[in-house]
Amino acid sequence: MNLILMGLPGAGKGTQAEKIVEKYGIPHISTGDMFRQAIKEETELGLKAKSYMDKGELVPDEVTIGIVRERLSKDDCENGFLLDGFPRTISQAEALEQMLNELNKQIDSCIHIEVDQEILMERLTGRRICKSCGATYHLVFNPPQQSGVCDKCGGELYQRADDNAETVQNRLEVNMKQIQPLLDFYDQRGRLRTVDGKQDIREVFSDIETILSNIQN
Ligand SMILES: [Zn+2]
Repeated sequence: MNLILMGLPGAGKGTQAEKIVEKYGIPHISTGDMFRQAIKEETELGLKAKSYMDKGELVPDEVTIGIVRERLSKDDCENGFLLDGFPRTISQAEALEQMLNELNKQIDSCIHIEVDQEILMERLTGRRICKSCGATYHLVFNPPQQSGVCDKCGGELYQRADDNAETVQNRLEVNMKQIQPLLDFYDQRGRLRTVDGKQDIREVFSDIETILSNIQN
């Protein structure tokens, strides 16, 4: 099964990716890992990517796509893969479609873990960190016993600048603008499957299992 996993930050993509990989034994291919591996193995494209990254420049699509192609051609992708963080643009999605055609493959499902922005805001802005020991809390999911105080060491809890409402809202909007065209792209191809990410982790995974059982048959 060849899968793409999509979701906004806070939707629980990482957790579900882990569970899919564990149950179905397909590799989890995240863009970051893929770049790190290509650079470590010093493949031609890996070195090319590195030259852009070292200069602080964006890696051009053709290099990224080449690295994806190398990765998807490896033996461990024989029975499928789970792409995470790629494609990011329609042109990448088109290139992916073309390269899979050449490999005689296709995307079976693009799974979108959908969660309302309001709930994502709650999830993403609730994190608090202890100034002294670094322990993390969440105002809703893992609150400290006493507000603003670390259970473990009595230290003061703070909110990282990245987690403040304005930054999070902005991040969600940027991400939504980025993924919406891709969701449309896979919807048009009858490949989009939407899962309700408001549910708890087990229920979300159970919905994903149902989707995947339909692919296997
Ligand atoms: Zn502490």
